[in-house]
Amino acid sequence: MQLSFFSSQPYDRRFFEARRSASTCDDEVVFTFLSAELDRQTVALAEGADAICVFVNDKLDRDILTQLAALGVRAVLLRCAGYNHLDLEAADELGLFVARVPAYSPEAVAEHALALTMTLNRRTHRAYNRVREGNFMLDGLLGMTLHGKTVGIVGTGRIGRATAAIFHGMGCRVLGFDPAPAADFERLGTVVDMDRLLAESDVVSLHCPLFDSTHHLIDERALARMKSGAMLVNTSRGALIDTVAVIEALKSRRLGALAIDVYEQEAPLFFADRSDEFIDDDVFVRLMSFPNVLITGHQGFFTAEAMNEIADTTLANLADFLAGRVCSNRLSGAD
Ligand code: NAD
Repeated sequence: MQLSFFSSQPYDRRFFEARRSASTCDDEVVFTFLSAELDRQTVALAEGADAICVFVNDKLDRDILTQLAALGVRAVLLRCAGYNHLDLEAADELGLFVARVPAYSPEAVAEHALALTMTLNRRTHRAYNRVREGNFMLDGLLGMTLHGKTVGIVGTGRIGRATAAIFHGMGCRVLGFDPAPAADFERLGTVVDMDRLLAESDVVSLHCPLFDSTHHLIDERALARMKSGAMLVNTSRGALIDTVAVIEALKSRRLGALAIDVYEQEAPLFFADRSDEFIDDDVFVRLMSFPNVLITGHQGFFTAEAMNEIADTTLANLADFLAGRVCSNRLSGAD
């Protein structure tokens, strides 16, 4: 039995190998770590694999899933929560077992949303560089006191609630929007409609999945409804935001600041060292030119605790698949 990991980084190998002994994963399972992202050019590397393990930017459309099935792959294990990059109907038709890691330390992503918000608000990234160069001027570092401000949480699921709890604890007024709001959100804030959330929030933080219905949820219209000078934070999925519209809102000074851990065209950029290359993506380069934009490269999940949980759940999913057991993390087109 061979499990091939696509898009694997040295830390994936480290955590999966370390957690293997604690799992019920059969000793017969052979791990193969491939650094290549899964796409049309690399799908042939799955030859010999019974199962593959993939991450957020691997391509899993109908064509690639068909090729995987033809190569003998029987299971696709997502080492992430989001599954917007996978054609579930095609996977069902091909008889592929698909499972994900639905929750791994939601607090890890929530704390990263806080880190982005606070860094951008108090300019700690700029202060760090200034002080190292012996510049102790404060001009340009002015922030706002978050206590008493309004924070809008879009998506009151696991990560949205963990983020709401943090801002609630900081003395912020918390608003939440969700078509199916969590019952216990009311202890942290008030559920409102999206227009009210946009109009009243000093910080808007996105925590909903990417579906066709949420693609460009934050577009020109939504940006125009936001409070002037507000901050937008996205640790969810890049395509929730229309980046070109956001750039226009930043240029017009309507949007006060932007912090993103995800970017709609991140696949050709993120998770690699490109410091010796030209970045061909002009939209991304324009974003980086704003002093009030902070970008991290999809690291919200990246804590030791979350990596352990990702490895444990993925190996448990594999064990369920091999034993033919019911797997609570299994996905199907009906989801
Ligand atoms: P979850 O399923 O617990 O919650 C998602 C919530 O979004 C649900 O309550 C759902 O009803 C709501 N929702 C659906 N459509 C909506 C809409 N149009 N407007 C507002 N809310 C809507 O998911 P979660 O664990 O909280 O994760 C949220 C997202 O965070 C994931 O889908 C994933 O894209 C992203 N994520 C990012 C990282 C990272 O490293 N940056 C890591 C993990 C997850």
